[in-house]
Amino acid sequence: MGLGLMIHIRSYQEIETIRKSALMVSATLTEVAKILRPGIKTIAIDKMAEAFIRDNGGVPSFLNYNGFPYSLCISVNEVVVHGFPSDYELKDGDIISVDCGVYMNGYHGDSAYTFAIGDIKPEVLQLLRVTKESVYLGVAQARDNNRVGDISYAVEHFTNKVYGYGVVRELVGHGVGRELHEEPQVPNYGRRGDGKKLKEGMVLAIEPMVNLGTKEVKTLADGWTVVTADNKPSAHFEHTTWVRKHKGEPLSTFATIEAAEQANPELNASYYSEAVAVSI
Ligand code: MG
Ligand code: MG
Repeated sequence: MGLGLMIHIRSYQEIETIRKSALMVSATLTEVAKILRPGIKTIAIDKMAEAFIRDNGGVPSFLNYNGFPYSLCISVNEVVVHGFPSDYELKDGDIISVDCGVYMNGYHGDSAYTFAIGDIKPEVLQLLRVTKESVYLGVAQARDNNRVGDISYAVEHFTNKVYGYGVVRELVGHGVGRELHEEPQVPNYGRRGDGKKLKEGMVLAIEPMVNLGTKEVKTLADGWTVVTADNKPSAHFEHTTWVRKHKGEPLSTFATIEAAEQANPELNASYYSEAVAVSI
């Protein structure tokens, strides 16, 4: 994936530039939240997003990245990540993970969000809620002098040890900045105190990919689409995250996405209004 060997420390000016790209991703995902409904083709979501990004002076980071042919990764139900937008029409009961990257002013932002369309089983709504919460547990560990493994452990402990979900191992979070994927890799499983040391000014994409069933995945013949081995659903949430002295800070935001999600009667936003009962 062209990972450089160097872990970059960003200046405040660079951080604010990355924040602009990350917030453009959030704005794009907010536009997605407004149009999601049963019957919409996922390719139409991709076309809307590409136009929105370009109209706002950005470039879709994923388009042509290692040959990826679309602006968004759209991953429905058992698709974990890297799903192709297509003529598939969303239907009531689907969950849809939308991953988006934007390149502007020389820097990338990267964020993902999983939406629920209509009537969703409680066990799947819980998967979404727990996966989203796990992003913030990871972000909290993105602080000066911690290690990558502290993020990894926080995500894995909560999603797997507390909730018993399958945590995907084949795909990981990453540094993000001038390149979409930079060092270090940020696995969603691991041990506290393991891995590269974190320094204030690093920027990491923290992105748990969490399965209702087995952690095992397989890649389809298109070379991109990753699905769960047991065909059970999978959730994916991601924040571009600034490593800070005491606690990481998301540079992307879910606030506007959540507001649009709540305002869209076709979406089931009930899952995140419940408090997470378990803390670590
Ligand atoms: Mg992403
Ligand atoms: Mg990413």
